[in-house]
Amino acid sequence: MPTVKPASQWRQTAGWAALAEFIKQAAVLALCLLTLASGCTQGPAALTALPSGKPSAPPAERPPSPVEPPPSQVELVARLDMPSSRVLVVLTVPRPQAGLLRLSFRDLDAILDRLRSMSVKADGRPLATQKTSGNWDFQFEVPQKTQVLSVSYTVDPRWSAPGSSHTDTKSQRSYIRDYGAILRGCVVFPRVDPQIGPLRVRFLLPQGWTAVVPWEKSDAGYLVEPSALLDDYVALGRFDLEELQVAGSQVTLAVWAGLGQKNQSKFGSNELRKLVTWLAKTLGPLPSGGRSIAAFPSEYLGGGAASAGTVVTELSARTMAHEIVHWWNGWTFKTARDATWLGEGVTDYLAPKALWKAGVWSKKQFESEIRAYATGLKTLELRENKCFSLGEASENYWKENSPWHAVVYQKGALLGLVIDAAIHEASRGKHSIESVIAALCAGRSQTVTTPNIEDAVLRATGVDIRPLVDRYVRKAAAIPDVEALLKSIR
Ligand SMILES: [Zn+2]
Repeated sequence: MPTVKPASQWRQTAGWAALAEFIKQAAVLALCLLTLASGCTQGPAALTALPSGKPSAPPAERPPSPVEPPPSQVELVARLDMPSSRVLVVLTVPRPQAGLLRLSFRDLDAILDRLRSMSVKADGRPLATQKTSGNWDFQFEVPQKTQVLSVSYTVDPRWSAPGSSHTDTKSQRSYIRDYGAILRGCVVFPRVDPQIGPLRVRFLLPQGWTAVVPWEKSDAGYLVEPSALLDDYVALGRFDLEELQVAGSQVTLAVWAGLGQKNQSKFGSNELRKLVTWLAKTLGPLPSGGRSIAAFPSEYLGGGAASAGTVVTELSARTMAHEIVHWWNGWTFKTARDATWLGEGVTDYLAPKALWKAGVWSKKQFESEIRAYATGLKTLELRENKCFSLGEASENYWKENSPWHAVVYQKGALLGLVIDAAIHEASRGKHSIESVIAALCAGRSQTVTTPNIEDAVLRATGVDIRPLVDRYVRKAAAIPDVEALLKSIR
């Protein structure tokens, strides 16, 4: 809020002159309060300029008059505007470095015209911004000795899963609706160059809503590193919250409140604890830091999404497990585009396998999930009258409304089974596909390609999977009968 000069600081005068001065000051104060009420931030400047009786200087020559004392660190306030389903963001940078500053809002699969307004001010004075690449990048010159830089913008936070259309609301993984909101960091917040941070982040939300984030609490907000702000998903709404200590991590489990009894998930804190504990024991410890999982009913969110520290998911054990597996396969190491079959497909194999191995599901449930992949793939191949190669499907995974997407998940999951069975057979049960994922995780932060995966399997298990990769990834051979393969998995 802007501040008003306290009355005790007004110049003391005597007699009629004092009364005239008082009337003048009171008129100015009233004017000020009116301007403040209308949201205008020029109020204090008007207060200092008018009482002297001298003509006021043109605005550009007025000394800078910051409306608030400069914050001690970078602050970001995000307010949900419910009627428009947009986010209003104000980023305040105290004593910024002078020179060129770039803001980049690049993100795949976000709607193209998501930025609806942008204004940049240095000590209250507007700065000219220049778009440097379509609607994505802005740059401007920060003047020398700026005390407070403020960037205000409005953004439409909608973002859909790769390969799906923006008009399909179930595939949106970032949105604002009346029952809750999900913000994908890199859709809503810019990459700032040169980098600023850490940031103090606050959300202004409808009454009763909370933010589900894995960040450190700070005053009325959170202290966030710029990389986490861009990578993470923020879930907002009314949630039943549980704080858990699991496998060395502090995990916030948030389930959308107000579910009817029959809609309650069978996946709660006990199941989560078993799953994460098994994954950490099998694939390796997670990097330190908090984590948050927010679950919405399936009609509100179809599928899910993960960052290194967050998961937003529909209330389904399989989808939750898939997104949690991404904390290892997807974030502890990443997969290059040609290896999306491992990043998404093998994650879809590991999710039901981890649920079974962790004791959340029976082996029967695991097997029926695998059979469902096989049936789904058969139906797709019959409809398209062809078999697909996983290499081509991985490269085309991002294309909207294409069969490639389903191929990556279903055939990728089945190739996971083929590789797992081959490793089990060759190592007489000593190794599994989890040994490979664990080895890739141990190489942290690498982005792996298909040849890297072939090498990793050979090193971790002694099994040469190149003939299998040739058959199903480089070529389009049909996956063999899953019943025989399932017999090898113990
Ligand atoms: Zn995934």
